[in-house]
Amino acid sequence: MSRTIDETHDASRQSWVESANRPGCDFPLQNLPFGIFRRQGTNESPHGGVAIGDRIVDVAACRDVGLLSGAAEAAAEACADPTLNRFMGLGTDAWSALRRAVWRLLLDGDERIRAHADWGTRLAPEMNTAELFRPATIGDFTDFFSSLHHATNAGRLFRPDQPVLPNYKHVPIAYHGRASSVVVSGTSIRRPGGQTLAADAGQPAFGPTRALDYEAELGFFVGPGNALGTTRRIGDADDGLFGMCLLNDWSARDIQKWEAQPLGPFLAKSFATSISPWIVTFEALVPYRIPPSARPDGDPAPLAYLDHGPATGRAGVDVRIDAFLSTPEMRANGIAPARLSRGRSAELYWTPGQLLTHHASNGCDMRPGDLLGSGTVSGPKRENEGCLLELTRGGREPVTLPSGETRRFLTDGDEVILEGHCEADGFARIGFGECRGRILPAQGNN
Ligand code: CA
Repeated sequence: MSRTIDETHDASRQSWVESANRPGCDFPLQNLPFGIFRRQGTNESPHGGVAIGDRIVDVAACRDVGLLSGAAEAAAEACADPTLNRFMGLGTDAWSALRRAVWRLLLDGDERIRAHADWGTRLAPEMNTAELFRPATIGDFTDFFSSLHHATNAGRLFRPDQPVLPNYKHVPIAYHGRASSVVVSGTSIRRPGGQTLAADAGQPAFGPTRALDYEAELGFFVGPGNALGTTRRIGDADDGLFGMCLLNDWSARDIQKWEAQPLGPFLAKSFATSISPWIVTFEALVPYRIPPSARPDGDPAPLAYLDHGPATGRAGVDVRIDAFLSTPEMRANGIAPARLSRGRSAELYWTPGQLLTHHASNGCDMRPGDLLGSGTVSGPKRENEGCLLELTRGGREPVTLPSGETRRFLTDGDEVILEGHCEADGFARIGFGECRGRILPAQGNN
């Protein structure tokens, strides 16, 4: 059983990589998230690394010089691939062995990496000299709807009498997203064109969306797969999940409004989804596991196949997610990005394990590197609402920025930045880095 509190979560331990020990650092010794990188200016193949402070541990290079052995060495071999899919498929024992071995190499006082004269470029290069890539080949992407607050707020705009449909509290709702257009943080987002029906128009028209939005979410990467025709047990669900990232489900609300009936989102979502490059493992998240948010009185209990049973007390996870906006005018005037919202995954109605178990409950084969989105993470207060659709009440009440500008939806040149972190009494603060995307003008319009 690898998913318990152990020395790798000990907040008192420090790394010889000094930047990792600074307060507020997203990547302290207690985190050790995995990603795919390449040194800038080289033609080396992208491969796996572990973030520590402002550096990246090149796992395959450490293996090559004999710094890893046993199960950790075998796991590191999979990290030499240009994606983390094979590593994700290995499962908790392999993930844990490698994470623990890297932890030991980075522990204050350990000299093994620095014994190599070229360690600062070969074994642990600075992150700002690296190019970061999409961490996995995402075979399938499914976006859920696990915040009851978001479902209620968004539903109210379309169905004031019945914002939440009766199935919501029984079945985790989702739609199949588009995997090919999942992009890593920093990739610019082209404003999509699409078909819309304006309120005052009798006929639909095709053109650039006028209601481009973000959605602040978490992404969950699937670990070992299940064969087609087999299901997964809720008790094993957490061992089936490799890790988490930040996810921005860009959304064109006017296209969505016209196309989504009766089959749900399609082109309003499939033009782009951004994810953060570093995947925080579920093992690193152990100290921040909590009971799922309490179901309101009178709500049904989950059906047996979705019931965590005695493990319910640690089935949820508490990640705080901030969404910031930076406009061209703000950047020109040196104004820092403005926070639009702060959400907490502690307030989600469904747990990551329930999403995975439900997804496979019909015998659907889930594969290593498949991506599940939590859905917009919103909370009970207005400042917790994780998209502009909610914050502006469907565009009716614009938000005002520090520059004096207002926004109903996103304008060309706007940049949305998601940040996330975990904190818990007695444990280190660990972060997710950032998920950033800037809006380019529509094609043919620049
Ligand atoms: Ca979404």
